[in-house]
Amino acid sequence: MKSVAIIGAGITGLTAAFYLKRKGVPVTVYEASDRVGGAIQSVRQNGYLAEFGPNTILETSPKISQLIKDLGLQSRRLAPSPQAKARYVVRYKRLIAVPSALGIFFSPLLSAKGKRALLREPFVPARRDGKEETVAEFVVRRLSREFLDQMVDALVAGIYAGDPYKLSIQQALPRLAALEEKYGSLIKGQFLGARERKRTGEVAKDRAPKFSFDEGLQVLPDTIAKTLGDSVRLNSRIDSLTQKNNSWVLDSFSASPAEHAAVIYAGTAHRLATLRLDALLPLSLKPFSEIRHPPVASVVLGFRREDVAHPCKGFGVLIPKIEGFKILGTIFSSSLFPNRAPAGHLTLTTYVGGERNPGHASLLPDQLVALVCEDLRQLLGVRGKPTFQHCAFYPKAIPQYNVGFGKYKELMNDLEKLAPGLFLAGHYRDGVSLSDSIVSGMNVAERVAASLNR
Ligand SMILES: Cc1cc2nc3c(=O)[nH]c(=O)nc-3n(C[C@H](O)[C@H](O)[C@H](O)COP(=O)(O)OP(=O)(O)OC[C@H]3O[C@@H](n4cnc5c(N)ncnc54)[C@H](O)[C@@H]3O)c2cc1C
Repeated sequence: MKSVAIIGAGITGLTAAFYLKRKGVPVTVYEASDRVGGAIQSVRQNGYLAEFGPNTILETSPKISQLIKDLGLQSRRLAPSPQAKARYVVRYKRLIAVPSALGIFFSPLLSAKGKRALLREPFVPARRDGKEETVAEFVVRRLSREFLDQMVDALVAGIYAGDPYKLSIQQALPRLAALEEKYGSLIKGQFLGARERKRTGEVAKDRAPKFSFDEGLQVLPDTIAKTLGDSVRLNSRIDSLTQKNNSWVLDSFSASPAEHAAVIYAGTAHRLATLRLDALLPLSLKPFSEIRHPPVASVVLGFRREDVAHPCKGFGVLIPKIEGFKILGTIFSSSLFPNRAPAGHLTLTTYVGGERNPGHASLLPDQLVALVCEDLRQLLGVRGKPTFQHCAFYPKAIPQYNVGFGKYKELMNDLEKLAPGLFLAGHYRDGVSLSDSIVSGMNVAERVAASLNR
C-alpha cells in the first residue's frame, strides 16, 4: 500500500494524517519539535490554564464539527460562557463594546461623520478593474479613514498582528473583497449574502460560533496524535526531499532516509524556503523566505479578581494603533471558559509585537510583563502584581498576506503541478486561522487520496 509522509504535526498535518489513515492509507508524520500542535499550546499550571497560542476555534464550516465528531470530542467541547459575547475596542483610552449591526449608529465608536460615511457605502461605486489594493486603501475608498483607524486597524491586529497599509484586501480579507465584487457594496452584501451562506453551511468569521475544550485547544492535536500512535515521529525535522521515479525520499539529520509515494508539506512558509528540494524543477523555494512573519509575544497573566477594576465580562479588547498603547489586545480568557483560573482570580492573555511594534515582542519576560501591566493598568484598572505569569515568544508568528502575496500562491500552485506527489497545505496557503487550517488539512487528505487511486 502506498504510504504518505506528512511534514509538520500542527493542526493541518495532524488533520490530514487522521483522515488519510481513516481511508486506510499508511501515514508517517514528521515533526521538527518535541511536541504536537504547532502554534497551539495549552499549559495547566498552579490552577491556571494558559493558552500561549490560539485561544478559540471558529466554527466557520461544517467540516470543523465533523472533525470534532469523528474524534469523539463532542463531550469535551466548550462553548464560551454567554456573558463572554461582548467584544471591546478602545476609543479615547476607554473600552467601548462593539455593537451588533445597526447599533453602530448609536455607538460612541464612530463620530457623526463616520456614521454618515457608513450610510453612503451602498452608493460608492464598486471598483472592477481587478487591481490589488491594500486593506487600508479599500476601507478608506468604501467607508472612511475613521473606520480604518478605529475598527479595521484593531481587527487586523487581532487576526494577523498585521498592518492594514501592507495587507492585501483580496488575499487577507477575501470575503470583504468578494462582497464588493458580487454585490457592489459591503453593507448590501452582508444582507444579500446571508441566503447563500445558509445554503453552503459556511458561516462568516464575525458570526461563527467559537469554542475550545475542557483542557484547552491542546486537546485537539493530542487526541489526533493518539489515534496515529507511533506514526508520529517527533524531533524529526525534514531537511531535504528527493524525487525518485514515482516516489519521494525524505531526509533528516535525526533519522534514516524514508521513501513515500506522496508528501504533504504542512509546515511553515519560512521553513519551506530552507528545504532542499532535489527534483528536476525549473523553480526555487527561496522566494518563500520573502513572506513576512512579524514576531509576536503572548503574555498570560493571572490576577486576583479584586485587583482588576473592569468586570472583564466579554471576549476581550482590541486596540487600534491611534490609541497609542503598546499592546495589540487582550483576551479575557477566564470569562470565556470555565476552569481557566483558580476561584477568585482571572486570566488575561495579551498579545504584543506584530507589524505595529515588532521590537516589543522580543523583550525579556519581566520587561514584557511590566509593559503589559502598565497598559492593563490604564485600560482595565489592574493593580498589584500578577499571581501567575507566562510569556511565549513566536519569532515568526503569522504569515502576512500582504499585497503581492498572490505570487507566492502561484508558486505553490506551480510547485504542486511540476512535482507530482508533493502537496502543500496549511496556514501559509489556505488562510491563517485554525478553522482554515483544519479545512485545509481535510481538503489535502482528499486530494492526496484521489491522486493515490489514479
Ligand atoms: C500567537 C498566536 C495566536 C493565534 N490565535 C489564534 C486564534 O485565537 N484563533 C485561530 O483560529 N487562529 C489563531 N492563530 C493561528 C493558528 O494558530 C494557526 O493558523 C494554526 O495553528 C496553523 O496550523 P498549521 O498546522 O498550519 O501550522 P503550525 O501550527 O505552524 O504547525 C507547523 C508544524 O510544522 C513543523 N515543521 C515545520 N517545518 C518542518 C520540517 N521541515 N520538518 C518537520 N516539521 C516541520 C513545525 O515545527 C510545526 O509544529 C494564532 C497564531 C499565533 C501564532
